[in-house]
Amino acid sequence: MPVTVDIRPSAAVARARHAAGPATIALDQIAQFLPRTGIGTDVHPFEPGRECWMLGLLFDGDGCSGHSDGDVAVHALCDALLSAGGLGDLGTVFGVGRSDNVGITGAEMLTHVRSLLESAGFTVGNAAVQLIGNRPKVG
Ligand code: MG
Repeated sequence: MPVTVDIRPSAAVARARHAAGPATIALDQIAQFLPRTGIGTDVHPFEPGRECWMLGLLFDGDGCSGHSDGDVAVHALCDALLSAGGLGDLGTVFGVGRSDNVGITGAEMLTHVRSLLESAGFTVGNAAVQLIGNRPKVG
């Protein structure tokens, strides 16, 4: 049985409307309109000779190893977005056991995650990523 909250009109409004009784709304109906937050992290080793993709940008120098293009920042972002939507995690959606994901790009991953979120009725409001690493040099 869902938990409900009364959302009664004020006394003045109630009198004006001659309300017959309280209106109720289930908490899970309210929750769908509240912002959600997810946290994602990822760590990859560098692999000599690999392209260095970070947040969909190609940098000079060696990139990260991985089943995909090794865009560790996008991986963390996708993980956070999936978490916020309650849609699993990066491994669930882009597991390394799936041959169709070999070499998938960060942009493709973000596009797919956004599609999953929108299919579940969510819209991304904002996102932040913190990258900690010696490479690539940014700024
Ligand atoms: Mg990763």
